[in-house]
Amino acid sequence: MDSIHFDDIDQAAPEMEPLREEYSRLRHQLDHAADEAAAIEVMQRWDALRREHDCWRSLTHLRFHQDTTDAEYKRAREHCDQLTPKLKELDISIKRLLVNHPLREQIESRIGSQAFALWEAEIPTYKPIIEEDMVQQSSLSARYIELLASASLDLRGETLNLSGIAKYAESPDRGLRYEAQLVRCRWFEENQDELDEIFDKLVSLRHGMARKLGFDNYVELGYLLMQRVDYDENDVARYRQAVQDLVTPLGTELRAWQAAELGIEKVMAWDLSVFFPEGNPRPQGDHDWMIERAREMFDAMGGGLDRFFRILSEGGFMDLKTRDGKAGGGFCTSFETVGMPFIYANFNGTRGDVEVFTHEMGHAFQCYMSREQPWVDYLWPTYESCEIHSMGLEFLTWPHMEKFFGERAEQFRRIHLASALLFLPYGVAVDHFQHLVYSQPTASTAERHALWQQLERDYLPWMDWGDLPHGSMGGRWQSQRHIYLSPFYYIDYTLAQTCALQFWLRAREDSQQAMDDYVALCRRGGEAPFRELTRSAGLVSPFQDGCLENVVRQARASLPI
Ligand code: ZN
Repeated sequence: MDSIHFDDIDQAAPEMEPLREEYSRLRHQLDHAADEAAAIEVMQRWDALRREHDCWRSLTHLRFHQDTTDAEYKRAREHCDQLTPKLKELDISIKRLLVNHPLREQIESRIGSQAFALWEAEIPTYKPIIEEDMVQQSSLSARYIELLASASLDLRGETLNLSGIAKYAESPDRGLRYEAQLVRCRWFEENQDELDEIFDKLVSLRHGMARKLGFDNYVELGYLLMQRVDYDENDVARYRQAVQDLVTPLGTELRAWQAAELGIEKVMAWDLSVFFPEGNPRPQGDHDWMIERAREMFDAMGGGLDRFFRILSEGGFMDLKTRDGKAGGGFCTSFETVGMPFIYANFNGTRGDVEVFTHEMGHAFQCYMSREQPWVDYLWPTYESCEIHSMGLEFLTWPHMEKFFGERAEQFRRIHLASALLFLPYGVAVDHFQHLVYSQPTASTAERHALWQQLERDYLPWMDWGDLPHGSMGGRWQSQRHIYLSPFYYIDYTLAQTCALQFWLRAREDSQQAMDDYVALCRRGGEAPFRELTRSAGLVSPFQDGCLENVVRQARASLPI
């Protein structure tokens, strides 16, 4: 197990005909199971099949992201997109049988109720009538990924992709920052028609699927697809309001502090990411140097992170350098047949590399720690819980930031905390935008841009785009990948940030306790819903009155404002 290498992992695409027969046998055996032990034995064979399918899907999508220009990877991804709804249909046929099974109570007492809650949420999200729509949705998503990955931007004679140009947002040279933002915004402006068209098609497709499945619009379907089994749209709306009431005013103060630090009158759109006149602290070495420092850091932290990082790095389960044709962003995926995760990023030499790296490591560590969970449903929790592991680790690694930033580590911590707070209003704006978009599916492109502009005024009143194109027209949301690719996946980050900040506060009191609680939470994987997981880790739910207020008050006290 310790010597496993990424190159050894392979998983062929499923053959649909034999697979249909296999599922039909499984259903028959489940129907005739004499007792729960017999049923569970059948379910274990089903679980093994699902692990193979998930592994194949992860590999296919990872390879496509690693080189969006490779024709073979693209074909494989298209094949995967074609088969995904068919596999979903087969799995739902078993889930439906299980939730209605005469032995359900006995099975549930053995495997836990969370799997049943997840299946009950999933069953209404698919019927064969939307198969073609799902394939189209995947192909539009791929078009968006390819379009962004193809951006070739010229900045003072240097050719850069979107990940590469982002580093200039942190330049101490304000003129250069402005130029970089201008080049970036112009690219979005030049591609706006295509970006609008892709999104418009995605919204009508998603709305159409919701209608075909019997929902009023995509909002309810979106929540079910995100498997939100223990909170609803009203809880989320209240939380957004709390962020607007408590964090937006703090954001205005933070931006004023930032302007004073930078010695400028006002923080403009091209200044957002830089907090110190000499520029933000940057990691003091390249990719390989960072991996060495990371190894030292995880050795010092222990808790299993040390051993895990060696297995991950020595096994080649990381792709962190940016390059042409590689899709942007950072994520963690996993290969369920072997219980190993993989982390993907696009390092560009900024402090963000450390943040993305510790973030994705948090996901990967959780996935690894919960690999003994008996059911594939429990390997990952739902997304808002997943993001506690990632954002939590960003904070738990704080005492080790000297390794990466030397004497500027304290500045890094200050930016990280300020950015974590400033992120909350942006995150809820992205969430609010999606609620508005999917409840008004026939809104025009111009109306959507106007919606975003209004949300910027409400949640991010400090935003000033000056004379920049695209952003000043309400276009910022078009660079937010989740809005295109993962609808309603965003509030999750803000809920998790509120929990991660609680880990940060605990670590200041008792770092060992915080680490123990963190590891215990990771081990639980997805065996429980969000509120139960947070409760078991001693965290206050962000939905509870006073939670956000308390966290924000304590965070504020450690900022120089
Ligand atoms: Zn994440």
